[in-house]
Amino acid sequence: MKRSFSLRYCPVGAVSEIGASAHYVQFDRWGVLLDAGLDPHRATQDGVPAYDALSNHPVNAILVTHAHLDHMGSLPVALQHFPNARVYMTPATAELTEVMLRHYLQVQRKQAAEQWQAYRPLYTEEYLDMIRYLFQSFPYKTPFGLHGYEESGLRFTFYDAGHILGSAGVLIEWKRRRLFYTGNVRLSSQFILKGARLPDAVDILITEATYGADDRAETIKRGAEIKRFAGRLSERLKLGGVVLLPVFALGRTQEMLMLLHRLRQKNRIPAVPIYVAGFGLAINRLYDRMLHKIYPQYRHGQLRTITFGRWRARRRLNGPAILISTSGMLLPGSASFGFARQLAEDARNAIFFVGYADPETPGGLLRDKRFDTLQQLFGLPRLNCSVEVFHFSAHAHRGELLKLVRRMNPSCVVLTHGEKPALEWMARHIPEVAPQSRILIPESGQWYAL
Ligand SMILES: [Zn+2]
Ligand SMILES: [Zn+2]
Repeated sequence: MKRSFSLRYCPVGAVSEIGASAHYVQFDRWGVLLDAGLDPHRATQDGVPAYDALSNHPVNAILVTHAHLDHMGSLPVALQHFPNARVYMTPATAELTEVMLRHYLQVQRKQAAEQWQAYRPLYTEEYLDMIRYLFQSFPYKTPFGLHGYEESGLRFTFYDAGHILGSAGVLIEWKRRRLFYTGNVRLSSQFILKGARLPDAVDILITEATYGADDRAETIKRGAEIKRFAGRLSERLKLGGVVLLPVFALGRTQEMLMLLHRLRQKNRIPAVPIYVAGFGLAINRLYDRMLHKIYPQYRHGQLRTITFGRWRARRRLNGPAILISTSGMLLPGSASFGFARQLAEDARNAIFFVGYADPETPGGLLRDKRFDTLQQLFGLPRLNCSVEVFHFSAHAHRGELLKLVRRMNPSCVVLTHGEKPALEWMARHIPEVAPQSRILIPESGQWYAL
């Protein structure tokens, strides 16, 4: 029996929030999982995509777009469900994934021990040792087929997504149809990474929409934001304060270090020590080791030369200094949470937010100046330090996303990786740039014919 369609799609992870990304696409008898993410803010099992929904479907390959947990944190679990699947990613993502999964195992153990959550870790060290041999890596713009299933005719190509080291969008070509999944994408350059380099014309586009509801992101001028950042930073440092930048270990830490380095070189901020604390240091090493393969002009060992040194736990926090520390959301138990508590009472100090923070985390509470709840959380009578928010994003703003849709001119756009208002804004405006496109805001666990 001939079916009326042969390409089916089901998001098994989160769609209308920034949670676990996992998109399943079936091409006749073959199936591909795009990302195997995890929602790290939920109890472990609840943060895993609904892989059971695919138990009667083929999963021949898992393609991981980048090494943030929301895109690969449940990869070990996915491989328990689909032990025969090939795992494809870029070389940098393969290295980062291994390090990130190992680190996240420690985090899970710590959380379990301190009983923030009653659960067991999702996987063991031994299991990670086993699955790392499955990671097959391909550089950007190097097409490859589905190994062992060449008859499927599937062809995959990674494209530089400009989001973090190794991040990729995936082009899937099949029977003269082209499907492109952005993963997380940044179209203009950051301080280290250049903007994405993506293919032209595709038939189906599955895109992120993180900043779809953010009307500020597209109006902020990068130069002006850097100037404001340098100005506020200098102010605090001249007072002798310590400025804490709570940031993600992977991506934001390295980008901010590079910005600070350039500002210091141009004497736009005082030459004070820059410390890095937490897991970001381990990631710096990987950036230094691998970045030159993607950007030959990047000098080997550059990040290592910028930092003043590793922060030692018992050292006193004496200003003036800049401290870059994970986690970006000041999660309880993290290095940045501890530093924030030490710094909060002294009015010379400051906490600068330079990335995303979930509103319900301590970072989000502080960003939104919900100090009452925070005082309880920190156990402090007062919060005197200044708190500032800056916009340096690793995601495309919505105007850029619309330009991307215009350029790719797909017959179908699937909107994901954004809060509901973000997806809806994109859905309202895509007809202006691609009037013929069918627009889909999918629901998790539902099946769609593409
Ligand atoms: Zn990401
Ligand atoms: Zn993401």
